[in-house]
Amino acid sequence: MTILSGKEYAAQYDEKLAQQVADLKKSGKNPFFCVINVGDDPASEIYVRTKARKAEKLGIDHQMYHLPGSASETEIIDLIHQLNDDPKVTAYLVQLPLPDGIDEKKVLAEIDPNKDADGLTLENIGSLWQGDHFVEPATANGIVNLLRDKQIEIDGKHCVIIGRSNIVGKPLAALMLEENATVTILHSHTKNLPELTKQADILVAALGQANFVTADMVKEGAVVIDVGINRVGKKLYGDVDFESVSPKASYITPVPGGVGPITVEFLMEAVVKLTRRQDG
Ligand code: NAD
Repeated sequence: MTILSGKEYAAQYDEKLAQQVADLKKSGKNPFFCVINVGDDPASEIYVRTKARKAEKLGIDHQMYHLPGSASETEIIDLIHQLNDDPKVTAYLVQLPLPDGIDEKKVLAEIDPNKDADGLTLENIGSLWQGDHFVEPATANGIVNLLRDKQIEIDGKHCVIIGRSNIVGKPLAALMLEENATVTILHSHTKNLPELTKQADILVAALGQANFVTADMVKEGAVVIDVGINRVGKKLYGDVDFESVSPKASYITPVPGGVGPITVEFLMEAVVKLTRRQDG
């Protein structure tokens, strides 16, 4: 069994990205990344801080906007329009989830697809499913890049994804199809889930339940990718019971230090790509 360290992969990738940032700046294009965070969700605050730190490390200018939980849809959309219109801003995202009562779809629809760092606008999602995409949701893109980097074969393999969210499960399914995997998506209404997970050559757990995937649900030699981040007290748990599953897996990502660091890395790659595409 090999542990796929996202932390190590991201550290290697940092060098490449930092160079790309420096090259962009030399050519007169300055990457400028923003995040709109609404409310006081403690997990979101940690993610926003992590993104700001990574941008800082790579030399990407950034600004984090924090709106109170009481902010109205109109106030959020006004800020989005401000970022759309600001030529200095090259890429941004709205940190999800948004507080109850805010229509996420309505808010995301206002983001300029050319500045859409998360790849969640209708235009970018449509392009993803057409196989003609420019920017991809970072978790999904990071996972595919990690597998490629480790020369783990995807073509012809059965990839089973637990979770059908717009930010992880669905975009990953699109990218895996593009890599010629046979893809099965499981979700909360799936019957006989362990029978299906046991068929996976590549099993991706993205459902948000600590230690949900146990050894009896995994085929011997499977590649296991754990997307879950579940806080129990002060500790972080993945969606995979690492202790029981790892002896059976050929490759497995840990939590923490697996998919999390790769996601932030590929978010920054999206910022670089969007900046490069914009007019100088
Ligand atoms: P979500 O809540 O939007 O979606 C969860 C999905 O899992 C849903 O499609 C649901 O149908 C499915 N599901 C829930 N319970 C299930 C069950 N018992 N059996 C089968 N399917 C079930 O979640 P999300 O935003 O996709 O996030 C999933 C997990 O990944 C969370 O723990 C989240 O914190 C984590 N996450 C991590 C990263 C990262 O960078 N590592 C990025 C995004 C999300």
